[in-house]
Amino acid sequence: MSEPTPRGTDPDAGEAYVSTGSLPARDQVIALVTAAHGRFTREASGKIADYIPALAEADPAHFGICVTNARGETFAVGEADHSFSIQSVSKPFVFALVCEALGPDEGERLLGVDATGQPFNSVMAIELRANRTTNPMVNSGAIATTSLVAGASAEDRWSRVRDGLSRFAGRRLELDERVYASEAATNERNAGIAHLLRGYGRIYCDPDEAIEVYTRQCSLLVTARDLATMGATLAAGGVNPATGERVVSAGTCRHVLAVMATAGLYEHSGHWLFDVGLPGKSGVSGGIITVAPGKGALATYSPPLDEAGNSVRGLLATRFLSERLGLNLFVSAPVERGGASRAQS
Ligand code: GLN
Repeated sequence: MSEPTPRGTDPDAGEAYVSTGSLPARDQVIALVTAAHGRFTREASGKIADYIPALAEADPAHFGICVTNARGETFAVGEADHSFSIQSVSKPFVFALVCEALGPDEGERLLGVDATGQPFNSVMAIELRANRTTNPMVNSGAIATTSLVAGASAEDRWSRVRDGLSRFAGRRLELDERVYASEAATNERNAGIAHLLRGYGRIYCDPDEAIEVYTRQCSLLVTARDLATMGATLAAGGVNPATGERVVSAGTCRHVLAVMATAGLYEHSGHWLFDVGLPGKSGVSGGIITVAPGKGALATYSPPLDEAGNSVRGLLATRFLSERLGLNLFVSAPVERGGASRAQS
């Protein structure tokens, strides 16, 4: 397979073309977030993930929603402060750290950015691509991403991952030791993926070390409120709107959001974009983040999952809110002669 054409990214070039607009007024956001929670709280379909034994203990009734705008104002309802392990929602943030360090061209060359159309832990996805890359939002590409975090040892890499994700959240994130031990004792499949990638030269440190750090990153404890802040940092050009700290560049955010839009919901990513029209990322513990560039982020937590591993209530609430909050990136209104759009006239 040919290498992608280098785009010669100028780190400042994107900033002249930022997404504009903002979330609706505070009262309206509160009313809509509350309405979304009330509307979908009785939805009873979906199944809690149990392939990591500790995850099976989650409460199926838990349902939290949090919206954070690009100025750091937060609107939360339900179990938005309940802690759970971040799982795959860690993937875009570790990719952001790696993309920031290596640049987008190297990131794309070493990891790939195309959707696989396959389940999150697919081995076949690796085999189907001639150059054996996938993308940083599925397990194979995410384990390879973690292997690119700088560090002389697993401990070193882990402290960079933890510090980086903590800066996105604006607070020190803790490891859930029980979830970590449970996944570490049962992650033969991910270890198999890492060793397969090693055979193809597509993992960039010792594969067991990469799995160690990857499993820890998935076991970091977060709340829906944390995820909304983390997503809002990607929405706000890389500056955490709660702490004011720059975590990554605006150019990095743009590339991370593109891969989330392409592949953030595994084999349902196309369906998600068709419906919601925004970059998103889900995880098997029941979290979903959705980012509206320039405006803010929305995070949901509800453990029962559909067959692709995406939170059922999270999908419903996000679709409802992306519409009612006017966030879908693909929606437009005809422009009237004279310049005003119909929506404004
Ligand atoms: N730690 C989980 C795994 O690697 C994360 C998967 C997910 O959230 N989809 O299997």
